[in-house]
Amino acid sequence: MEQTLSIIKPDAVERNLVEEIKNIFIKNNLKIVNEKKLHINKEEALEFYKVHQSKPFYDKLCSYLSSGPIVVMILEGKNVIMENRRIMGATDPKNAEADTIRKLYGISIDKNSVHGSDSEETATKEINFFFKD
Ligand code: UDP
Ligand code: MG
Repeated sequence: MEQTLSIIKPDAVERNLVEEIKNIFIKNNLKIVNEKKLHINKEEALEFYKVHQSKPFYDKLCSYLSSGPIVVMILEGKNVIMENRRIMGATDPKNAEADTIRKLYGISIDKNSVHGSDSEETATKEINFFFKD
């Protein structure tokens, strides 16, 4: 069964939205098969978001992701990569569809509450980044 990596970002953990967001996944038939709460450092964030290293927002993004606790999860289900992206909504909460996580909870394009892998290749890479043991 297909798997993807989801992250509940610091802005949402800080506002105690973890259970609400997990319930949205569960209601949409995405199974949470592994989960942990952790606080990564800046170097780890720079590595995780390396694909964005040439972007103007890279440094700020990595400072932000390492600014507080996050919850990382492996989600499993049919078409889970694209399903999770749909349930998350657009990167900028202003542009997100009604009832998506980012529309409901996102504060801004940088504090947009969740991350989700965008392809099979990144899903494998991102799951291994947090869960290889
Ligand atoms: N981001 C940002 N400014 C931008 C574009 C993106 O701060 O102009 C942040 C945003 O938090 C986003 C993350 O960088 O979630 C990764 O960007 P990507 O384009 O991969 O968006 P996503 O896949 O998260 O929707
Ligand atoms: Mg992305």
